Amino acid sequence: MPFAHRLNNVETSAIRELFKLLGKPGIISLAGGFPDSALFDIEGIRAASQQALQEDPGAALQYGATEGYQPLREQLAAFMAGKAALDIRPEDLIVTTGSQQALDLLGKTLIDPGDKVIVEGPTFLATIQCFRLYGADLIGAPTDANGVDTGALEKLIAEHRPKLVYLIPTFGNPSGATLSLARRRQVLEMAVRHQTLIVEDDPYGELYFNAPPPPSLLSLSATVPGSRALLVHCGSLSKVLAPGLRLGWMLAMPELLAKATMCKQFSDAHTSTFAQATAARYLAAGRMPATLARVRKVYAGRAQAMVDALRGEIGAAIEFVPPQGGLFVWARLTGADGRQADGNALARRAIEKGVAFVPGAPFFCAHPDQATLRLSFATVDEQQIRAGVARLAQAL
Ligand code: PMP
Repeated sequence: MPFAHRLNNVETSAIRELFKLLGKPGIISLAGGFPDSALFDIEGIRAASQQALQEDPGAALQYGATEGYQPLREQLAAFMAGKAALDIRPEDLIVTTGSQQALDLLGKTLIDPGDKVIVEGPTFLATIQCFRLYGADLIGAPTDANGVDTGALEKLIAEHRPKLVYLIPTFGNPSGATLSLARRRQVLEMAVRHQTLIVEDDPYGELYFNAPPPPSLLSLSATVPGSRALLVHCGSLSKVLAPGLRLGWMLAMPELLAKATMCKQFSDAHTSTFAQATAARYLAAGRMPATLARVRKVYAGRAQAMVDALRGEIGAAIEFVPPQGGLFVWARLTGADGRQADGNALARRAIEKGVAFVPGAPFFCAHPDQATLRLSFATVDEQQIRAGVARLAQAL
């Protein structure tokens, strides 16, 4: 088939190949990037969807505005404004079909073939693939336990003059890392100094375990003059409500929002009105705080179970920083047990022992660290986490 040349820039991910093996009976999966469906507030979503059909059936089932269903934009603006202590109006954001679509719209509106884009090494795999589809030349900025190394990032910005810098500052996927407050300020200051567009992808910020994370870049932009106009913020209901609703949003400067809306018009016209009308009523009913409190508690317990099991079962052969939120432990094989520190080889042996995880290498746009692993604690209970880590220890 004479496929478009842009497909030459991307390939089916190694992770997909691995997922094919997950169907094996008895496998404990620490591989998925999903929230736990057992934690969905089904009762609340059912009530909200019934209410949407009763109160506003025409709008809920009709074509809608590309920018989004107005009552949902109002709810999301209020939700964001409360979190960010900022003046956020409904027209400052558009609703997207998952935050994944916001990333695609950014690619469509901003990236020409050959454009430089800086991402964290490691970063969200679908962002790598999506930006590459538009021909981006991706540059990985080094990261550590406190998120992206801002000194190195500024050097890369000065050298490459990127179209944009894409960051997951809070509970990163896959790194689990959170950018420190000082570094957040530095990122905004360097954005202003170099007039560089920063994209803050924030699907996990609400999933903290003990204390809330530092304020978002969006929130801090109020304290760094000139930075708000250089910031795009992507949010999502996937990890806090339900990913099947496919609801995300993007806040950006008006001219970018207008172009993104135009592109969305040609793409899916609008995000499901039924899903939007449901979510608008869910948020208006005030159920979110209780839902968040519940999921935070469960994930905190699972994260702790995984941390304890890794320390107890594997010890010095693996290193990691315990996550403070999100869904992942990002770990590195140290080779301390004299074995080859190779995440890919371990993933294959682990499947034979009955546990699956995702090797870390594919999450790097360049210079992959082969010794890394992403372990998800989200979809299995604490007992299974302990059993899964015990199998991982056997595989090692
Ligand atoms: N960004 C990041 C960092 C993610 O981890 C995910 C989902 N795994 C997304 C965006 C996309 O989420 P959604 O489209 O479901 O909102």
